[in-house]
Amino acid sequence: MEILEKTHEMLEAHPLCDHCLGRQFALLGYGLDDQQRGKTLKLLLTMKNHQLALSGKKAGFSNLRLLAVNGSFDMAAEILKNMRKRARKKKECYLCQGLFKNVDTLVENALKVLENYEYATFLVGIELPTIVEEREDEFKARFEVAYGESMRNEFSRDIGKKIVKATEKPAEYKKPDVVVLVRPFTGEVILQSNPLYVRGTYKKLLRGIPQSMWLCRSCGGRGCPKCDNTGKQYSESVEEIIAGPILKKTGGENVSFHAAGREDVDARMLGTGRPFVIEIKKPRKRFLDLKNLTELVNKDAQEKVEISILCAATKDDVRQLKRAEGAQKIYKVFIDFERNVSNEELDAVAKTLTKASIRQQTPLRVLHRRADLIREKYIYEAHLKRLAPNRAEMKIRCQGGLYIKELVNGDEGRTIPSVASILNVESKPLELDVLKVIMEES
Ligand SMILES: [Zn+2]
Ligand SMILES: [Zn+2]
Repeated sequence: MEILEKTHEMLEAHPLCDHCLGRQFALLGYGLDDQQRGKTLKLLLTMKNHQLALSGKKAGFSNLRLLAVNGSFDMAAEILKNMRKRARKKKECYLCQGLFKNVDTLVENALKVLENYEYATFLVGIELPTIVEEREDEFKARFEVAYGESMRNEFSRDIGKKIVKATEKPAEYKKPDVVVLVRPFTGEVILQSNPLYVRGTYKKLLRGIPQSMWLCRSCGGRGCPKCDNTGKQYSESVEEIIAGPILKKTGGENVSFHAAGREDVDARMLGTGRPFVIEIKKPRKRFLDLKNLTELVNKDAQEKVEISILCAATKDDVRQLKRAEGAQKIYKVFIDFERNVSNEELDAVAKTLTKASIRQQTPLRVLHRRADLIREKYIYEAHLKRLAPNRAEMKIRCQGGLYIKELVNGDEGRTIPSVASILNVESKPLELDVLKVIMEES
């Protein structure tokens, strides 16, 4: 069917504003918007019917009336008036209910909420009531619209263009900093600030600090005398120490702390540190002076925790950390033996553990929060050094996930072999340090 004939049929069936009419032909012509398309089609139809009316054809008048009422086209109404014919009142658009008129207000509201955020790129998202989308789908099917676009597209492009112009910031479709969610039918504008990621490595220089916050064992977080009403088992954690200043600087809502594995509460994390990524949810500020922020974190951490220079990161860095949980680790542990041990005995332990596979059943001390499984973990190398007749230092490079304390004491036979089982003597792990987390290059 010809374009003008189709336009006429559409207007005969329903009142349509310039936008909603033009949108049905969005892929035809370029460099113009749907409103211009709709206006142009109505203009052509008006001229055609003006000619008919001037030559006295009845259809000319009734079609001009249609354009004035269902097309809300002022020129058609003017012509009728000049020819002393009456036109009835304009009707509201069947598809958008006239809401494209509100685009400027929606843009103003969007700019107002954007003012409170730092962002380099944005994206406009449009939410329409289901009934509105269904109505448009039916309309398109009925008139076999083949070159149209959706109302959602038109709203988002119109609003997006105006925001680009006002802010001089580009729209970005894949990874925008913020999403402006607009609901034209309720007038709501909601800003979604996408997470901000920074990465670094941390050292834990003091024992007795968990990596993340633990809820109080007695009250489960509600607060009780035992935890001084804090709801926490430990007053601070590596996560809280690092995240505190970062959360403050970014004005975010909360954080997720991702790390390449974790050390025990009573183990230090030394050497080159453990890689981590902090995901800041709903940040208001994201243009950060990371060097400055690193210094701030380290100053606040009071030598309990120390971080290396923070860098900008992405979600992919989080995935990489998760994969690194089984990465090689180097540990140092002091061992107390129940009796004196000889250098030869310690050499025998090192020899047995080097290049050995350890069968380890979930340790008794973590059984309350981990499934009871048997895992096999590999030890690349082990070195032992005697410090006193009944004391030694063991350094070990192993697959991530090996429980070191149980490797020393045998955990009632659940870890095989162990230092205790090789020497047949009760062996007690003392201080444990993580010296290195070896990340695979990707
Ligand atoms: Zn409309
Ligand atoms: Zn408590």
